[in-house]
Amino acid sequence: MQQLRKKLKHALLAKLLKGNNVACTVCGSTYSSFFPYLNRANAQCPSCRSLERTRLIYQFIKDKALIQPNTRLLHIAPEQCLYDVFKQQLGNDYIPADKFEVGYSYPSDTSNVDITSLPFEDGSMDMVIAIHVLEHVQDDAKALQEIYRVLKKGGYAILQVPYEQSREHTYEDASITSPEARKQHFGQSDHVRIYGRDYINRFRAPGFSVQYADYVQSIPEQLKERYVFKKEEIFLLRK
Ligand SMILES: [Zn+2]
Repeated sequence: MQQLRKKLKHALLAKLLKGNNVACTVCGSTYSSFFPYLNRANAQCPSCRSLERTRLIYQFIKDKALIQPNTRLLHIAPEQCLYDVFKQQLGNDYIPADKFEVGYSYPSDTSNVDITSLPFEDGSMDMVIAIHVLEHVQDDAKALQEIYRVLKKGGYAILQVPYEQSREHTYEDASITSPEARKQHFGQSDHVRIYGRDYINRFRAPGFSVQYADYVQSIPEQLKERYVFKKEEIFLLRK
């Protein structure tokens, strides 16, 4: 009942936002403004629920034509809106995967995986996407090696993490394990570090080359406003 009420409220609000000031790069819907999300006004697409970062990354993927009809794409911790478009585009070549946790539900074709020990063959993927995942993983170096291993030579990865521009070195301490202490030290109860400006070196460690650090700067201001993009650098990693 509560679920139904929520859905109806959502549909009504979406109707009230009918318009053409903002547009979603993921589902193509337009509105007078997006829904608020957490403390941010004008953030979430009422139709597919995409957020600022997701819309930016999806636009980047489209602009660079990173996904072709036969691209084999491993998507770790898939955002629902991207799951929907990738599944439709790629069918069985789209492999959604996550580490299953009690109390959460996942689309039926999602694989339960440990990112530090991926159950896929060497060189079996054209692309890997994992957005805001590595800051939750204790052994991120091993995860990066695994992602590198399953990619084909020439394959791409997008592995965005939150990082603090003002921090030179990544801060982590494996002895901090309780949710309370992690929140205090790393800003979120399930984060295991705060990445600093050196984080891109971790991506280079397994052998990735790094491209397109300044994509968001290349987008005209009026489009940034129309799509309500996150002002975030995107790093495209290439094996
Ligand atoms: Zn949308």
